[in-house]
Amino acid sequence: MGGLDDLYQQLILDHYRNRRGRGRIENASASVHEHNPVCGDECFLDILVEDNRIVEIRADGDGCSISQAAASMLTEVVADKDLNEALEIVEHFRRMMHGDAEPDEDLLGDAIALEGVAKYPVRVKCALLSWLALRDAIASYRETTAHGG
Ligand code: ZN
Repeated sequence: MGGLDDLYQQLILDHYRNRRGRGRIENASASVHEHNPVCGDECFLDILVEDNRIVEIRADGDGCSISQAAASMLTEVVADKDLNEALEIVEHFRRMMHGDAEPDEDLLGDAIALEGVAKYPVRVKCALLSWLALRDAIASYRETTAHGG
């Protein structure tokens, strides 16, 4: 207890109060809307993809501090990443939130601060909402491009 937890708490609050990547993308390559009925969190996620890379990502919506901070952290971490890299990052985050992986700061950046949330199963859904929205957005993007859309 102490130092590290405080630091992580500060990071979460900072992302909650100063949301990075907030808003919508008008000409998005894929858009996903996710809702967490347990807590009432809502997430609209837009990505703009060029050459298999996320050139822009924005998250909008409202909800608890964990869900909003997680969305803010996500937009920073996967910006300018290759789609496969982004999926790898999401998967690592998902495993960390389920206690199946040690937090890797190189992959997750500020999002390692959410590690402590893994102890609270009800809040895990809050943290994962926007991250799983990105996974769905990439799947939906691939679906449309595979069909020539
Ligand atoms: Zn929540």
